[in-house]
Amino acid sequence: MVHYIRLGIAGTAAAVAMTLAPAANALSAPEPAAAKKASAVVTLRYDDSRAGGWEAAIAAGVASWNSNVDNVKLVEAAPGTRAEIQIVATSGWPQATLGPVRPGGRAQVQLGQQAVTDGHDKTRIAAHELGHNLGLPDTKPGPCSQLMSGSSAGTSCKNAVPDAAEQARVESAYRNGAAARIPTDGRMLVDAR
Ligand SMILES: [Zn+2]
Repeated sequence: MVHYIRLGIAGTAAAVAMTLAPAANALSAPEPAAAKKASAVVTLRYDDSRAGGWEAAIAAGVASWNSNVDNVKLVEAAPGTRAEIQIVATSGWPQATLGPVRPGGRAQVQLGQQAVTDGHDKTRIAAHELGHNLGLPDTKPGPCSQLMSGSSAGTSCKNAVPDAAEQARVESAYRNGAAARIPTDGRMLVDAR
């Protein structure tokens, strides 16, 4: 009789140990390798499916950033896939979320017709608003050579290329995955007249 009882207890203990083992393994599982190392180049995707009439300006503004900074790239999101940057056309003033927007984050660009009606260049507007997403504030008033001087440079200014200081500031924000550690400001900066 005693032997049967002992076997019974041993069996129960073994069953408990086997039940706990998988849970213990799950708790000690290593972190995914992707969380440890950031890519040298940060890719941010944009969705401009609601920015009708601004396609050419967006493409040119994106190309300006992509050709002038090395460690962050803007790419058009495939239809129906997630994008960090939502670009929409509006009837109001241009405005954008102040970044630097993180990979997996969320920002908006509103390409406002009001500035076009005032005579401002659409490509400069698009590049300027994307500059806000990349972490650049306004530098108004400022010269046409500065992208972030925006409307203060006048309607004759068609420059859509960030100057050296603006390029350097964005490069710094995204260097070695830094954008993942810098809090996105998140304010909407309105570029009214
Ligand atoms: Zn602005």
